[in-house]
Amino acid sequence: MGTVFSQKQVSLKPYNTLSVDVTAEYFAYISSADQLGDIVKSGGIDIESLFVLGRGSNTLLTKNYPGLVLLNSIKGIKVINEDENSVTLEIGSGEDWPSFVEYAVSKGWSGLENLAYIPGTVGAAPVQNIGAYGQAFEDIFVDLDAVDLTSGEIIRFTKEESKLGYRTSAFKTDLKDKYFIVVVRVRLSKDPHFDTSYHSRFPNESLSEWLKKNGKPPYTPADVAHAVTGLRKFKLPDPKEVGTCGSFFVNPFVTVDKFHELEKEVNELQHYPVTKMEYDRIDWHNTGQDKIVKIPAGRLLDELGWKGKWIGNVGTHDKQALCVITNKKASGQEVLDYTNKMRESVQKAYGIDLVSEVRIV
Ligand SMILES: Cc1cc2nc3c(=O)[nH]c(=O)nc-3n(C[C@H](O)[C@H](O)[C@H](O)COP(=O)(O)OP(=O)(O)OC[C@H]3O[C@@H](n4cnc5c(N)ncnc54)[C@H](O)[C@@H]3O)c2cc1C
Repeated sequence: MGTVFSQKQVSLKPYNTLSVDVTAEYFAYISSADQLGDIVKSGGIDIESLFVLGRGSNTLLTKNYPGLVLLNSIKGIKVINEDENSVTLEIGSGEDWPSFVEYAVSKGWSGLENLAYIPGTVGAAPVQNIGAYGQAFEDIFVDLDAVDLTSGEIIRFTKEESKLGYRTSAFKTDLKDKYFIVVVRVRLSKDPHFDTSYHSRFPNESLSEWLKKNGKPPYTPADVAHAVTGLRKFKLPDPKEVGTCGSFFVNPFVTVDKFHELEKEVNELQHYPVTKMEYDRIDWHNTGQDKIVKIPAGRLLDELGWKGKWIGNVGTHDKQALCVITNKKASGQEVLDYTNKMRESVQKAYGIDLVSEVRIV
């Protein structure tokens, strides 16, 4: 299994933002689609025992990994199409997402400014259809190429085939661990229309207020990206200082009736409409789209006293109960135990099953 090109017994602590110290039995850098394709075709990979890793910012490693970890370092950004309104880019999946956003907004291109400062690789962006402040990766996504880890062939997946939904895609569900995304294509606009409507109550912050701190309109994509970055730095933990994966759970969908019930128990509970794409991915289709809403998991956890609460080496951020953090000494099992307690308390109090956003390995 891949012994020709891989290292043995490598600590993964530097490769996950929770700083969990587990080892990979085998570990290899992947720097091109052809290199990966050749390895697969030569029989160098046992698909049952491999794991594709980007920056490990959405992954909880709970024990030593008994197989091969492939670390993505496929680089390169190029413009493949451009007209007066838009530009289409092809990006190597191992490029750093926040650096890519900075590059794009510095050119004046728009469509991803609200997704500034989200840690991770470009290749992981479609996996969970990253989203923040009213924008999601699906808004700019064109298509992607992925190496089939069984045959070594490069396959193109259209946007439709990638089945992006709310923090999910085919690569997080049906096709999980079967493909290594090597190239991602996105289309950005040269005629920006910004969504600065984001407003949170806990803490009371709005994107438009942060934008005003940068100066007066007209704003550029870079202005919006910098406001988003400022807001994120204020609200979210810094992975350089603490171990974290950002939000641990996705926001649950509930019926409007259930929401009204919860509203009586949970102070200032907000709710958000369910988009068509989200609705298509929910399995209770006997309920109309207008009868379901999304509610903030962080507010439920906050109401139950989880904000800023520590148990041993694991806690939650003092500004956001959904953000699980560690002192970088926690084991993966400790993080898992802590988050299971959070899940149980929400189930007991409100009858809601929280689903983790983070991949648990
Ligand atoms: C402080 C902080 C804030 C965050 N804020 C947000 C936010 O606002 N919105 C949001 O959506 N997310 C957020 N996240 C989560 C995270 O940034 C994203 O999910 C990001 O896309 C993960 O990228 P990664 O390269 O680290 O993925 P990893 O954790 O390395 O991988 C995640 C999953 O994707 C798979 N994968 C990775 N790369 C590939 C590939 N090339 N081909 C196939 N499968 C692959 C992995 O096998 C794994 O299952 C936050 C995380 C942190 C730490």
